[in-house]
Order: sequence, then structure tokens, then C-alpha cells
Amino acid sequence: MIYSVIVDLSASEVDRIFDYKGEGYTVGTRVLVNFGKRRTEGYIIGEKETSDCDESKLKEIVCACEDFPAISADLLELGAYMRREYHLRWADVLRLFIPAEMRGNRVHLLSKQQVSLATDDSLDKILERLKPNATMQRDLVAYLYLNGATLAEKINAEFGNSALRALKDKGLVRTEDIVIRRTPYKDLSVGKSEKRTLLPAQQNAVDTVLSDRTGRYLLHGVTGSGKTEVYLTVIEKIVAEGRTCIMLVPEISLTPNMLRQLRERFGDTVALLHSGLSSGERFDEWMRLKNGEAQIAVGARSAVFAPLKNIGAIIIDEEHDGSYISDFNPRYSTIDVATYRAEQNGALLLLGSATPSVQSYYKAKTGALRLIEMPERINKHPLPKVEIVDMAMETRRGNRGIFSSVLRQRLTETLEAGNQAMLFLNRRGYSSFMMCTKCGYVAKCEDCDITLTVHREDNRLKCHYCGKQYYVLDKCPQCGSAAFRQGKTGTQQVVEMLEHMYPGVKVLRMDADTTQTKESHGKILEAFRRGEAQILVGTQMIAKGHDFPKVTLVGILDGDQSLYRQDYLATERTFQLITQVAGRSGRDKDVGTVVLQTYTPTHDCLQLAARQDYKGFYRSEINIRKPSHFPPFSEIVRILYSGEKESECIDQLTEQYAELAELKLKHPDAFYYLDKMRCPLKRAEKKFRFQILMKLAVERLSEILPDIYAVCDSKRRSGVQIFVERDPQNLS
Ligand code: ADP
Ligand code: ZN
Ligand code: ZN
Repeated sequence: MIYSVIVDLSASEVDRIFDYKGEGYTVGTRVLVNFGKRRTEGYIIGEKETSDCDESKLKEIVCACEDFPAISADLLELGAYMRREYHLRWADVLRLFIPAEMRGNRVHLLSKQQVSLATDDSLDKILERLKPNATMQRDLVAYLYLNGATLAEKINAEFGNSALRALKDKGLVRTEDIVIRRTPYKDLSVGKSEKRTLLPAQQNAVDTVLSDRTGRYLLHGVTGSGKTEVYLTVIEKIVAEGRTCIMLVPEISLTPNMLRQLRERFGDTVALLHSGLSSGERFDEWMRLKNGEAQIAVGARSAVFAPLKNIGAIIIDEEHDGSYISDFNPRYSTIDVATYRAEQNGALLLLGSATPSVQSYYKAKTGALRLIEMPERINKHPLPKVEIVDMAMETRRGNRGIFSSVLRQRLTETLEAGNQAMLFLNRRGYSSFMMCTKCGYVAKCEDCDITLTVHREDNRLKCHYCGKQYYVLDKCPQCGSAAFRQGKTGTQQVVEMLEHMYPGVKVLRMDADTTQTKESHGKILEAFRRGEAQILVGTQMIAKGHDFPKVTLVGILDGDQSLYRQDYLATERTFQLITQVAGRSGRDKDVGTVVLQTYTPTHDCLQLAARQDYKGFYRSEINIRKPSHFPPFSEIVRILYSGEKESECIDQLTEQYAELAELKLKHPDAFYYLDKMRCPLKRAEKKFRFQILMKLAVERLSEILPDIYAVCDSKRRSGVQIFVERDPQNLS
């Protein structure tokens, strides 16, 4: 048999299928092959009787990496689709479908030795066969009799291995290898599942979703309207019918909470998949899904590739979130992938959000998604009251700090009432930059076009793009002065200030710096849930999803921050962020308050967000986008060029741009816009960055994209990497 193999080479640009000879392999199996002078891994993606190459020259497959096909036929099909849609290399796509450490054989099932009694005799009978003075052996036998099979490591630690060996020799105990399952978030406090009676709005949502099992739905429910309960009920129904489900949340920080609720209801049939797990955990959870032990996959973006068969529902919570569009290689849209998988499996697709993306809401308005609305909070609980504070006024009154007087007052009231507060600031670190007051020198990363952030905990300057660290400056490298000014306040400093303002009050911080270790997200959130702290300060990690009943105050310290983005998504992102953050307040009995600090208090977007007026926002946004041909009235495609030699990037860009310009001449109605430029982030990780931006007519997309991708493949220079991004969420 001839097998078509994708050779798994990391750095190379080769995206070719090679023919190998072999017998008895299943398509989808990972195999070892000889490639050039090397031995490397590959994936069998097809089989055929004859090769177009000279068959006598074909090499034999060396062997299979696993005794099962790691990639199922329908995932291979998905891979082919993604490759076409996003201009990806086969090897990069296939990698998405397996736990990273399976490559290179770096992870296996964990097995350990277990000790048990080898006889069914009574304890007295066994003890009769041991010498009275063999105390260790007697104790060990008694222990096993009482406790049953026990791990050898425990037995050895307590009774010593000579006792164990002696008993084995006598044939009284035996040892065997058993597989140990590595479970993520093992200690997550899982309560008893309280199955609630659905409220009418929830029941209606569930009924609608289940009315057509292959439907595409958008659930627009305000924050606190009980969307999670809808998801859980749908999953319950689908699983009861013997089908499987995928439940996606946008961030790792949201997985512990969703996992807890799923485990409460579905126990061991839930498996978690995301990049924050240890390699062993990820492998074991993946295997449980693959072999059918678990039927429900939950996780961030990558869980959409869960190795499940017979999928009945794919649910995407907080569907508007930018993280669903991958912004590094391989780049893809999770919603599109989910739509394809749903189609393949005859499954339903349910997107949910309090602030749907303009794209999705437009799809709902135009019939591609069926809209379900839950416009009220549970028990008609009021949405929080939002106070907008004009920080320019505050400055004129002489308060230059990051806390307005209103926010201070509300904080004090909240703490006195014994409630909790969340403060949101999307800027981690201590302060945003370090600048020489004499000559204006600002510390920047050597490798990136990025200003360094000051971090106090370890007294370093850090690049938030590549992570490189530097010593804090004691004098200016340009003029020698020792006087520095620091930039905008970050989360670290906010915590420090709060501890000054409210001695004795416990403050927790959640941002990329405090969540680097495994399961730290869960630990911080659980501590806050248990009331071990009164204030939680955090970045966008705390913005969405979380449901803390004791939180009655939310402070948004810098409400305009995302308005300064230079792209068409600025307003949408700001609206979503503020509505979501505000939605964390007053979710239980007490009415919540939100203090929104801004320098542009009259900005439409902020006003609409303060009123949680999604429809108003959508109307105003769609009216801007239609005449200017921004998505959903076009698709934005960016081709990103990056390389260490600036001139090489420019040459490559110029050549391909010329071809695209020709293409545009031939198809003027397919392009609304085409231009080339430096990226706003000019250099990152030592590489220069340039881009070609296009706005394409949606109805011409399928026809014109292959031509554009062909241009990307033409006249390639080896020193320049080229990536295509459809609908990029971040145009830096
Ligand atoms: P959303 O995801 O829409 O923001 P949640 O799913 O977090 O809202 O629900 C908000 C709160 O309402 C949660 O505390 C949840 O436990 C509670 N809740 C949900 N459904 C019901 C119900 N049917 N009866 C009572 N409480 C409910
Ligand atoms: Zn200086
Ligand atoms: Zn850097």
C-alpha cells in the first residue's frame, strides 16, 4: 500500500505530501519515517494503490508512533478545510489536533505499581504463615487486608521494601502495574449539584435550541441572566441521547468555574483541555475523550479540536471574545471551525454572550443564526447602577491619583457593609514606563518596539511582548541623569495603594504575573469566592464570566483605555469590556454599583455601555460600518511579513504587493481597499514587521482568496515569514 504522509518538520516551509510504502496502517496514524538523512515523525493522511512517483524509489514507513490513529478521519477533513481557508501548512494544522507532547514521544500514560494480597484467606490464616517476630510483614499484611490494594510507593515508604519483597517471595502479596490518571484541578471544591428549575426565559431558550438539533443559535442574554444554566441543560439533554458535547470559554481563567459546574452535574464524564495543564494531565484528558470515557470537553479555544466522535452540541460562551481568533500561527477562527465541525457531525451550535460581536449579531439579524434573547437578570434582579466619573474634572480639583473621590467613597461604603469589590485595570505591572525627566529617554526592549514596564516585586523592567527582563535604570544611559518619571499606574501599584488606604483589608490581584503557575487562576478565584479577600484587582482576566454573589461594587479605573486603539474594533471592544466588567456587580440580592472613570464622559460608547444598551450600541456601530465597508460588510485580510533583515521584508512585500495590485485591477469589485505599510508594532522579537491590508467584498471572498493565497506563495524569500490573517482582532 502507498501512504500519503505529512512530515512533521517544525521550522521548514515545506508543505508537501510525500509517498511512503507500508502495510496495515490506518489513515490518521502518526508514524516514524526517514526523511532525507533524518528520522522524523509524520502523519498518514491518505492511502492509495499506486504512487505517481517511481515506486521502487519510495521509502518504507519505519513504524507507527502509537497503536491507534491519533487523528480521526473527520478531523483530517477539518484539517484540509482549515488549510484551504486560512492558508496554513498541513503540519501546523495537524499539530492542533493532538496534545503537544505526543510529538517527540514526550508523554505517556502514567503507570505505577500497586500492591495487593494474593490470597482470599482470612487475616488470621495469613498471619499463621508468618513468624511472630516478623513485625513489619505482619503489619503490612494487616494493612493490605484492611485497606485493599495500595500503591507500592506508599507501602515502601511505610513498611520498607524488604518486607514487601519477603511477602512477594512467599506468594502472599502480588504487585501489578496500573494506569494512574492525572486529573487537572483535582482539588476544585465541587459541591452537590443543585438542579434548578429553569425560569421561563431559560426554558424558552432551551426549548428553542433543542427544537432543531442541527440549528445555529445566538443566545443574547444580559450579564446574570442565567446563560450557564441554559448551556448545562442543553448538554444534559444531548449527553442523555448518547452524543458528546464541546463547551468553550474564552480564557483559561474561566475554565475552573465552568469545570466546577460541569463536574457538579456530570461528574467524571467531563474532561478539560487547555494549554495551562501539565503535559500528563492534558494527555490523559485527551485520551479519555478519545476513547469515549469522557463525553464532555470543556476548555479554551483549543478544546474545539477535542477528539470526540458523534458530537451533538458545540457551545461557545462569551462568543464575542477576541481570543477565539488565534493571533499566532496557526491562525484560525474558532467559531468557523466550530461551525464546520457542527456541520460534519450534524450537531447544534450555540453561541452565547451579553455583548455579541457585531459580526454575530448581524448574522442573527440576517438569518444565518437564530436569535434567542434573555433581556432580564435572574429574578428580575436590576442591572447595576453605573456612575460615570469625569477624571479631567477630578484633576482640575487637584486629585491626580488613580482613584476618584467617588470611587474612594463607594469603596469605603462597600467594605463597611461587608461586601466585596472588583477593580478593573487592563495594565499589569507597577507602572507603564520609566522616562528620564532631563532628556526624555524612555527604556525600550532591545528586540521589540515596545516600552518596558516597571515591575516592583522583582524590581525589573519587563517587555510585555517577548518577556525579556532588564535591570531597573539607576541612571539614564543617554544623559546620565538619575531623575526618572514613571508612567501610568499598573495593577501592582493599585494593590499597594489600596493596602495603604485600607490597612487590614486583604487585596488579591489577578493578572498575567500572578497566574503563571499551574492552577493559580483557580486558587485566586476560589480564595475570593470564599471571602478571604475583600478586593480583587485585575486585568481583562476578571472582566467576564465570573459570578461572585458578594460583589456589589465594580470600579473601572481607566474606561477609555481601549478607545485609543487605532482600529475599527476600538468602540466594540470598549463597549464589550465595560458592559462585561459592570456585569460582575450586584449579581445577588444587593443592587450593584459601578464606578466608571474616564476622560471622555460624554462619549457615546461609554454612555451606551453604562446603560447596558446593546441594541443602541449595535445600531450606532452598524450605521458607521456600512458606508465605510467595515466588517460585517467586508472581510479584513492582513498579510504579515516578518524577518530579521528589514530590506528583505520590504522587497518581499513590494513584489507581492505588485501582484495583488494587479489582481485588484482585474477584480476591482472584490477589493474595497488595498495598501501596504509598516505594522504599528514595527519590530518584535528581533524581527521587523510589515503588512498588506485588504478589505474584501464578502460575496467575492471564496473566489478571490485562492488567488491571494497564490500570491503569498510566489517569489518566496527564505528570510521572510509570511502569515495570513482573516479578520484579525489585533492589528498591531
Ligand atoms: P450569565 O452567564 O448569564 O451571566 P449566570 O449563568 O452566571 O449568568 O447566572 C447568574 C446567577 O443566577 C448565578 O448565580 C446562577 O446560579 C443563578 N441562576 C441561574 N439560573 C437560575 C435559576 N433557574 N434559578 C435560580 N437561580 C439561577
Ligand atoms: Zn536622560
Ligand atoms: Zn521584547
